[in-house]
Amino acid sequence: DQNISQLDPEIAAVLDGELARQQGTLEMIASENFVPRAVLQAQGSVLTNKYAEGYPGRRYYGGCEQVDIAENIAIARAKSLFGAEHANVQPHSGATANAAVLHALINAGDKILGLELAHGGHLTHGMKINFSGKLYEVGAYGVDPQTFLVDMDVVREKALEQRPDVIIGGWSAYPRQLDFAAFRSIADEVGAKLWVDMAHFAGLVAAGLHPNPVPHSDVVSSTVHKTIGGPRSGFILSREEYAKKIDSAVFPGQQGGPLMHVIAAKAVAFKVAATEDFKDRQQRTLDGARLIAERLSAPDVAKAGVSVLTGGTDVHLVLVDLRHSDLDGQQAEDLLHSAGITVNRNAVPFDPRPPRVTSGLRIGTPALATRGFGDAEFTEVADIIANALINGASTDLEALKARVLKLTDAFPLYSDLQQY
Ligand code: PLP
Repeated sequence: DQNISQLDPEIAAVLDGELARQQGTLEMIASENFVPRAVLQAQGSVLTNKYAEGYPGRRYYGGCEQVDIAENIAIARAKSLFGAEHANVQPHSGATANAAVLHALINAGDKILGLELAHGGHLTHGMKINFSGKLYEVGAYGVDPQTFLVDMDVVREKALEQRPDVIIGGWSAYPRQLDFAAFRSIADEVGAKLWVDMAHFAGLVAAGLHPNPVPHSDVVSSTVHKTIGGPRSGFILSREEYAKKIDSAVFPGQQGGPLMHVIAAKAVAFKVAATEDFKDRQQRTLDGARLIAERLSAPDVAKAGVSVLTGGTDVHLVLVDLRHSDLDGQQAEDLLHSAGITVNRNAVPFDPRPPRVTSGLRIGTPALATRGFGDAEFTEVADIIANALINGASTDLEALKARVLKLTDAFPLYSDLQQY
């Protein structure tokens, strides 16, 4: 039985290369994070060998006594963390969780109403060539063209006009909090079910630093790998009355065997998310995003035609508006990448540039907060980004790279992980 470096040196080199990349750069993709070693251990464990179709105590395979314990722990921790009546921890990803939610709540041909993709919504909330756009009749609300905020009066108008069966709250790129109570009252007024997709901000909710959608919603879905910082995967919370429908929509409706190694890793992540350390990390995440928004709103940045959408942030990300900058989203992403900072370009609402190029950047702080960054480090990161966005093609990349390396050296990542 060979080690991977002996059995498959090509893939071992990828693992080593990726470890070095994560260690030596500043990870600022808003949907990414660094999992604790305990999560890597659970995910890289023998549980990957086990088939366990069904649910704890009701499996279609023998030998599930150990994995039943793991899944029951994950369910109990998810319910307790978010105050939910029911939890399903089997979805392989955020997208499959969302497919199961719609499968459970409505029938093909029914109507959904969510945030416009180009304004920060997600593919699974009704994009044309996604299952959600193909199976359901899609309506969308956008953000206000002046404030870039979701205006609940507009959501209500759209809901009254379109009479959706499901209203979706939640986003992939939006720097503010949504008013879940207002969503609830609109859903009640038009007889719709309310589904909130908290994939991005679930970690903030778990830490008590963001309103919790669970008390207001019929169903809440999430990923585990963004602000929560767990394994790449999804889960669904719901009121008890939807428990059976959700469970059967996930299995057998959507998936076959659950990934028990990932479910065990989710349990670990939920345990971590209930700690004071986690709360401190989420607070540093928020503070870091605010510091970056402040720096990128300063006069020297504004002079370069760069600004921050909505003028700030209440969450773990900042949306940079490059509509009036010489740099487009692609160029800004590439420039920061050359300096050792990883972000993603992102369309801003009403973006004049095509989706492959865009006029925006999405900058997130969760991974760096996990790495240990606090106010001083985020202030330095913000200044490095500002410097690049101000100077564009004439940026002194060597000087910025040196500043990035100083930060990565001061906050070692996975330093006790062995090379493969
Ligand atoms: N929901 C939202 C709001 C997201 O931002 C994402 C991820 O980008 C997903 C769902 C999908 O998650 P996954 O990539 O795990 O399928």
